[in-house]
Amino acid sequence: MPLLCRPLLAAARSEAARGLVESVPGLVGRYVAGADVADALEVAAGLVEAGMAVTVDVLGEDTRDRSAAEAASLEYLTLLDRIRARDLTRDVEVSVKLSALGLGLRDGTGPRVALEHARRICRAAHNAGTTVTVDMEDHTTTEATLDLVRELRQDFPATGVAVQSQLLRTERDCRALAMPGSRVRLCKGAYDAPAAIAHRRRVDVDRAFLRCLRILLEGGATPMIASHDPTILGICEVLVDRYGLRPGEYEFQMLHGVRTDEQRRLAETGETMRVYLPYGEQWYGYLMRRLAERPQNLALLARSLVSHR
Ligand SMILES: Cc1cc2nc3c(=O)[nH]c(=O)nc-3n(C[C@H](O)[C@H](O)[C@H](O)COP(=O)(O)OP(=O)(O)OC[C@H]3O[C@@H](n4cnc5c(N)ncnc54)[C@H](O)[C@@H]3O)c2cc1C
Repeated sequence: MPLLCRPLLAAARSEAARGLVESVPGLVGRYVAGADVADALEVAAGLVEAGMAVTVDVLGEDTRDRSAAEAASLEYLTLLDRIRARDLTRDVEVSVKLSALGLGLRDGTGPRVALEHARRICRAAHNAGTTVTVDMEDHTTTEATLDLVRELRQDFPATGVAVQSQLLRTERDCRALAMPGSRVRLCKGAYDAPAAIAHRRRVDVDRAFLRCLRILLEGGATPMIASHDPTILGICEVLVDRYGLRPGEYEFQMLHGVRTDEQRRLAETGETMRVYLPYGEQWYGYLMRRLAERPQNLALLARSLVSHR
């Protein structure tokens, strides 16, 4: 990750630059489907029409109070209801962040509260005929996230989980997750992490990504390759082919608003191409991570800052 981008990741936790980001025309809308569930469903239906699969995320994270966790959980139930009502469950699943469901509650009840909410969401998804994937957040939550996913999978084995190749531990985690039926979203990682526990050079993150994919393939897992990186994608296409997997036994995933031509191209060649589609008012942390991934976005922000002085 470029050094200049680290301040953006730090700002992602403080809302300090919210007004500034909001003032850049089209920036929020590029990455976020809209403010409410109706917006998300409209965009999701359009993507499905264009041959893509979707995972919808209700924006929100780092919840520190119980009622906000409850509200997030209820929003997911509404979302799943609407996905079912529009007959989209074959192609549309949901992604959840455990910190939005209360994982970080400071009174020590976080893991239990998050697990209860996540179970409720997994049950609703299962009844609707779709699945849930649990996002991976910053490194302080990795262990708790994997623990909770293990619990969720006892009742809902199709629950997916994201892992981040930037973390040194992830190859080991992939070994534990590499089994038939295990849906694993492999990504590079969007959060800053200290050198003691993470690869810091892009090339090392990329090499780890490919090692992790091989581990998942060896174990017969269902890899969800979440990257826009042309080099990574090219090698992954060769690897899944070498292991004899067919579309449906693995999938590609990209973020809404990023490399949309490539998304369309992959879908048109018969690949399962799933778009990560976030919606909601709490777009700030999500958007700052998207900006940090792309150095050019710093220039956009800087220009906006100058024009608003
Ligand atoms: C479906 C999906 C789910 C994800 N879930 C998680 C998760 O649970 N936890 C987590 O930590 N991270 C998650 N990520 C983010 C991921 O970890 C990376 O931060 C992000 O995908 C950028 O890495 P990259 O592999 O695309 O490669 P990069 O080398 O960063 O990007 C390759 C190219 O893609 C384009 N690109 C990449 N990002 C952007 C952007 N934001 N805006 C515009 N263009 C861009 C650029 O052309 C860039 O050159 C997810 C990503 C995807 C696609």
